[in-house]
Amino acid sequence: MFQRELARALHLSRRGAYRDATDALELALAAADSARDRARALILIAHNLPRQGDLQAALRRASEAVAAVRLVDGPDHDVWVAEAQTELCYVYAQFQMGRDALQAGWQALAAARRAADPVREAWALNRLAVAYAVSEQVDQACQDTLQALEIAQGHVGAERELMLSCLNNLAHFWLQASAEAIRNEDRQAAAEALAHAEPYAVRAAALVREEGNPFLVVVSLSNLVEYQLGTGAIDAALTIADEYEALAQRHGYAGMVQQARAQRALLQLRRDDTAGAQDAYEALEAMQELLLQPAPQQLPARLRRYLTLAMYRAYKLRGDPARALAAHEQLSALERQSARNAMALQTEAMLIRQEFEQAQARAEHALQDARRERERADQAEQEQHRLRRQAAELGRMAHEDALTGLNNRRHAEFALPLLLERARQESRPIALGLLDIDHFKQVNDAFGHGIGDQVLQKVAQVLRRQLRSADLLARVGGEEFMLVFVGVTAAKAQDICERLRTAIAAHAWGELAPALQVTVSIGLSAGEPPGKPHQLVEMADQALYGAKHAGRDRVQFMPC
Ligand code: GH3
Ligand code: MG
Ligand code: MG
Repeated sequence: MFQRELARALHLSRRGAYRDATDALELALAAADSARDRARALILIAHNLPRQGDLQAALRRASEAVAAVRLVDGPDHDVWVAEAQTELCYVYAQFQMGRDALQAGWQALAAARRAADPVREAWALNRLAVAYAVSEQVDQACQDTLQALEIAQGHVGAERELMLSCLNNLAHFWLQASAEAIRNEDRQAAAEALAHAEPYAVRAAALVREEGNPFLVVVSLSNLVEYQLGTGAIDAALTIADEYEALAQRHGYAGMVQQARAQRALLQLRRDDTAGAQDAYEALEAMQELLLQPAPQQLPARLRRYLTLAMYRAYKLRGDPARALAAHEQLSALERQSARNAMALQTEAMLIRQEFEQAQARAEHALQDARRERERADQAEQEQHRLRRQAAELGRMAHEDALTGLNNRRHAEFALPLLLERARQESRPIALGLLDIDHFKQVNDAFGHGIGDQVLQKVAQVLRRQLRSADLLARVGGEEFMLVFVGVTAAKAQDICERLRTAIAAHAWGELAPALQVTVSIGLSAGEPPGKPHQLVEMADQALYGAKHAGRDRVQFMPC
């Protein structure tokens, strides 16, 4: 869903269908389930909205994008920061909030440089330049845009939109400077600025026609008309104004439609003036009509001021002081209103930002809470791991004899009934031996308890080695061991026990302590499995008793 809508939106954006693209992006945003996807959708929405003229929504989305990229981890983090701050910079610039725009632009540029990403760096420079332009630093704006253009030209193909945007902006900055000079009645500065604008305006208009994006065509054509307006190429300019107005109309770029109408009115006025038709009021009446249009056709304040100024000059030129005065008063009123509007707009932007920052702070708190919660959960999990390990350890210990590592009595009591049951079910014979070290008390007495312990360990080792086939081998008392075999006949069991006894007697006990000698007695009970486990043990015990009485160091057998 996310990928599908995103692909659709990118396709639509390339064709300049920003409204449909934004709709697709909103769907993508709703389907986004990672920080990256969210950030991607928000950045693109923030990029599109200003072109539809919705600055409030654009500011909201751009701020959200800046917040969203904070959550994007990974080596490309700065790339995302650069993109989000670039959009925020542009939106602030559209609000004429120069300082905020510059701040966002600088952050974008710094992030793009950290990421060593030239294309993002060029976009950041391009937008930062717009921020400089609204801060009335046209020189810096042109400088940064030229730098962006240089980078963009080094990456042709990848960033054609960027290159065209740079050309359009350069033309626009110089045309703006020229218009400003005209307002200040500085003809020379106006002509110079116009000369600066020319190559960019002409080049952008030529290049952009090969481009599939009608928005860029419209912007560059409006720049070209502005330039021609300055040079007096009126007829050519009128044709182009018609062309781009139709294009803007078709694609719903309302702002550009109005721009075309205003430019056409100015062109007509200029044509009358250059023709010396000073008594012709047609163009001025058309202009007045345009100015009086109610919303939503109403021209934006900037264009209204522009036209009113032109009217004032035209009436003055025609020697019509009454109308000139009326236009002048209209102009003052417009300027006051425009200042009020700008204030209101900036206040609104500030409110959006504040509201957004509060929501952001709340979200951050929630995030911290969640993080703390997760840490607690992690700790609890670790603790559980530890307890489980401990339980496993304790479980093992519960069945193991600490001194010899053999199974202990508890295990023998647990395992013996199971072994007996299995033998009975499989109708196989069973054999149980009880092995007791002879005169062990004397070993302790003569050699010390430490040696006694080592003897126990050694005996356990010999048993383990000799009895790989045993089903059960356990230390069931101080110096007493139990061995159980399932499926072993009485005769075979006797052989095994005999082998054991000899192995122990033959062990080099002298290595442990000089003159140490160890023997064992074994009581063996073997045959058909009896009904109850204790019967088997009792028989073996009796046999062991027999072996001790018969002189020890021997195996005594008792069938069960
Ligand atoms: P018998 O031949 O009749 O079996 O004589 P014995 O001395 O081996 O038998 P008795 O039951 O009289 O003595 C067993 C001795 O085993 C007593 C006790 O001190 C010793 N013993 C039991 N557990 C341990 C142990 O863990 N370490 C050591 N060193 N000695 C132990
Ligand atoms: Mg004993
Ligand atoms: Mg003993």
